[in-house]
Amino acid sequence: MAFDLIIRGGAVIDGSGKPGRQADVAVSGGKIQAVGSLPAAEAAAVIDASGHVVAPGFIDMHSHSDVTLLDDPGGESKAHQGVTTEVTGNCSYSPFPAGSAGPKTLREQLGSLLISNVEWTWNTLDDWASDLESNGVSLNVAPQVGQAALRVAAGATENRPASPDEMREMRRLASEAFEQGAFSLSTGLSFAPSAYASTEELVSLCEAVARYDGAFYATHARTGAGKHITMIEEAVEIGRRASVPVQFSHISITDRRFYGDGPKMLALLEQARADGLDITYDIYPYTAAGSNFNETIPLWVQKGSNDEYMARLRDLPTRERVRDELTRAAGGLRPLWDTWQVAYVGSDANKGLIGMTVEEIARDRGVEPEEAVLQVNLEEEGVVSVVVHNRAESDVRYFMSQPIAMFGSDGRAVSPDGLYASAKPHPRFYGAYPRVLGRYVREDAVMPLETAVHKMTGFPARRLGLRDRGLIREGLAADLVVFDPNAVMDRATFEDPHQYPDGIAHVFVNGVAVIADGKHTGARPGRALRRGQ
Ligand SMILES: [Zn+2]
Repeated sequence: MAFDLIIRGGAVIDGSGKPGRQADVAVSGGKIQAVGSLPAAEAAAVIDASGHVVAPGFIDMHSHSDVTLLDDPGGESKAHQGVTTEVTGNCSYSPFPAGSAGPKTLREQLGSLLISNVEWTWNTLDDWASDLESNGVSLNVAPQVGQAALRVAAGATENRPASPDEMREMRRLASEAFEQGAFSLSTGLSFAPSAYASTEELVSLCEAVARYDGAFYATHARTGAGKHITMIEEAVEIGRRASVPVQFSHISITDRRFYGDGPKMLALLEQARADGLDITYDIYPYTAAGSNFNETIPLWVQKGSNDEYMARLRDLPTRERVRDELTRAAGGLRPLWDTWQVAYVGSDANKGLIGMTVEEIARDRGVEPEEAVLQVNLEEEGVVSVVVHNRAESDVRYFMSQPIAMFGSDGRAVSPDGLYASAKPHPRFYGAYPRVLGRYVREDAVMPLETAVHKMTGFPARRLGLRDRGLIREGLAADLVVFDPNAVMDRATFEDPHQYPDGIAHVFVNGVAVIADGKHTGARPGRALRRGQ
């Protein structure tokens, strides 16, 4: 019998964390058919992987590619990293459900993070997934449902706890998304309108979805100055009270007064685990965050519709009050504005700001940095992406090396010629996974290669309850990456982010080559995955 494909002579690191071993991998019909010594086997395509590692395709536990994959269906920036599945719907932002608000309103409210040029026409997870698949997509996506979308869909965009009617509607819409295969419910508790939710409200929402097999709660927590402990306590409380596993998103310490407090945070997580809560976290391998100006603006200013928010920024007395609050800085920690760098703006008029720091913009405009933030955010109607250099390298290493850590880039799958062509996105869009393998594993020996691969494959697959991916085993989907462990390295930088990495030779999604000899093939074999598959 001839196989569709044989990958010969590589070191197979199977995603379980176990040591690699020399083996051939045979694929047919999109599935792994055999793993072992297969000298006599024939195949339509043969890849010589000697000197290379063969691993399961990377599962990006934390992406925001929900709509970018409609603009840039090749997902080049991730495909070239070896990513085969993008987990979407993070930080409370999913492009569904639209509910009675409708897709247009949903887009107006969530467009500051879910940036795209395509029109939003779908209402439910199913509608969005079928658009994605009929359009064609190179990578798999594993959707989560975002609680900000639920709030908008239920009309709860004011800065207050949801009413009983709104709660009922949000629980109904969340359940509907889970019936359609959502993997988890996510929050983004430092953004409006997600942040308007009380702990009670979140427990109630989580209770509505906890009954679904494999469901979990993914949280971008209530971050901010002085909140690195309380943000974990709230996540643990919600998980415990709703009896739902918790994925703590992009763990970090961004308050420079508390760098080095990682062990205190880990102690809380380990205690919760000892008490029976299944809580894990993801992390990206950089000391800079990606955010937007809204995250620094007081929540009360952002309530209601985007038009109402912009009207407040335009109103001079209100604006003065906002500037005042910003300057005093919640938590007593004024941002270091020279570490805030503009990554994306939509208007041509402000394209020149891309790559500039807030301090530079303020100097140019002859105003204080806080006023510069408000001016630019108003000119761009609330859609200004930024990169913020706000973490300590030692903390990043500490967090990534813990056994309950898995990797997630927090980046988007984009094409260098597409949606973000004129932007300077965070280099994690292009480099997160090769950076772990090259910099942290090969050069600095922060963890063994098998451990790093496990944190990119088998471990996130287990969190997601994906039974047919994340490992190299007979019968599983043939999502595979072939890379050179001696050459793999990120090349994307903050100055020049649109750079593919070195050392990622071949990537297969559902048995079809998406990257061959380091080049994108244009194939679109990706699927929208569903919980329980
Ligand atoms: Zn986030």
